[in-house]
Amino acid sequence: MSGLHHVTAIAGDPIRNFAFYTRDLGLRFVKKTVNFDDPGTYHFYYGDETGRPGTILTFFPWAGAPAGRRGVGETHQTAFRVPQRSLGYWTQRFIEKGIAYEALEKRFGESVLPFTDPDGMALALVGVPGAENEPGWSNGEVPAEHAIRGFHGVTLLLDSAAKTAGVLTDVFGFEETAREGSVIRFKAPGDAEGSVVDIYEAKGFLRGHQGGGSVHHIAFRAADDAEQGKMAQRLVSNHGLHPTEQRDRNYFRSIYFREPGGVLFEIATDIPGFAVDEPVATLGRDLKLPGFLEQHRKQIEDVLPSLEESVS
Ligand code: ZN
Repeated sequence: MSGLHHVTAIAGDPIRNFAFYTRDLGLRFVKKTVNFDDPGTYHFYYGDETGRPGTILTFFPWAGAPAGRRGVGETHQTAFRVPQRSLGYWTQRFIEKGIAYEALEKRFGESVLPFTDPDGMALALVGVPGAENEPGWSNGEVPAEHAIRGFHGVTLLLDSAAKTAGVLTDVFGFEETAREGSVIRFKAPGDAEGSVVDIYEAKGFLRGHQGGGSVHHIAFRAADDAEQGKMAQRLVSNHGLHPTEQRDRNYFRSIYFREPGGVLFEIATDIPGFAVDEPVATLGRDLKLPGFLEQHRKQIEDVLPSLEESVS
């Protein structure tokens, strides 16, 4: 297993975030839970129908979060893949919904439609040949044929690429596949989805500052604890990097480390997945809490804003 597992970002208003990703972008809400380290706030998970690794974008929505500033040492853009012929549909939808977008551009031969979410998070849709053959999930508004199929990948803005490239290739098995201007493209081996990491090398640029609209961290896939353990060993022995102890995130188990370019990386297991505490048919419907927070459910529910009125 390799490639991206999930991307986690910071948002402002939770209701606005929920409406944008479920209604406007048509992602499935696969888990409604809280930030385990700050249980008075939500943690939202969006993805495909079952929440497969490589489709999961998650948010810590903090009402009133100050906006971040994009810069070096951060994720610069998060891209989803759609069928090539769907880019026209999405451009039209962005116009209708008043979503800020930029002109279509070409990167590494692919058509890219950059846009931003309500917090200014830098996103893009990439038209990918063959994506039309992957199953799409419809929210009832975006037709399944045009649905987002999962991540295309992320772009990291770094002062220098070399050490980060070493981690990508040696620990995660990525390969450098192309260069274009100041951007180096890495891909996970095989046909892994959500498998692209572009490093945009921008020596001397201003450092980024995290806030609303910033990516908080990027998680890479490990099949299970054993594979995660091997990756951790390589980080220590080959790169002098020391990941955290494993933390149980209920839907996956994670270790974290700061990669040499400054971006927070996570290694998350594919198991047990999002159907561990509710059936696929009703993913995202109920507030799910880890065992240690169940006793505080009433108190937690009282402080979280309701999403119900925003669904209409
Ligand atoms: Zn994470």
